[in-house]
Amino acid sequence: MRFFEVLEDEDTRHTGRIDGVSPWCIPSIDCDLCGGYGGLGESYPTVDLSRFAQRALLEEPLNLQALSLENYLSLCQALRPLLPQGAPMEPGTQLGPVVGKAKGRFGNFYFQAPWAPWVRASALEQLQAAGVKGLRGAPGKLGYRGQPAPPLHCLELHVSGVLHPTSHAADWQEPCPRCGSHRNGYPSESAILDEQTLPEDADLFRLSDFKTVIVANERFVTAVEQLRLGDISFRELRVHPRQG
Ligand SMILES: [Zn+2]
Repeated sequence: MRFFEVLEDEDTRHTGRIDGVSPWCIPSIDCDLCGGYGGLGESYPTVDLSRFAQRALLEEPLNLQALSLENYLSLCQALRPLLPQGAPMEPGTQLGPVVGKAKGRFGNFYFQAPWAPWVRASALEQLQAAGVKGLRGAPGKLGYRGQPAPPLHCLELHVSGVLHPTSHAADWQEPCPRCGSHRNGYPSESAILDEQTLPEDADLFRLSDFKTVIVANERFVTAVEQLRLGDISFRELRVHPRQG
């Protein structure tokens, strides 16, 4: 199986833009060992916390205050049943459907950020019908200059898979033993996926050690090509084969 990094299509002719955020966000950790911790990338737009008793902790202004590690862990324990199985729930995780404004014309895919892909509802249905696994999304709650907004879904991606240690930079640091934070940069030119950590139940996913990096397998890429879906591009990644 071949794997590809998912990238924005820099040559897109579509002008669409979304300006919006999820209503809830997991606060950062005030770690007494490494100083602090907040991440980017992890996002579960299908989650609904409107009945979650501790939701104020995840809303502004409270979510701008770092939690102690103990309070963070107890919040995660309460959230766990409401989130997809196996979600790391790192600080900075966005929860709930994106609320905001959209403008311009959209293609099949749109990247609100390199780590925040959206897909047109019709394209999502086509990909699911083609048998692409692990794809789900939530419609944005988007204003569109007083008209019905385009049917765009924010994708919800599993977190799975890591880089093989042979592609770690020389100054690679192990995660903080207390809170799990690391400050390594993604080695974009030398990245090699560790095959034995890659998921078999999802054709599109985020890397566990770099949650801003989205990876597709060749099933996903082939489906996108066969359906002629635009506004997305792919760069093949090297893979370190499974041992034995
Ligand atoms: Zn720490």
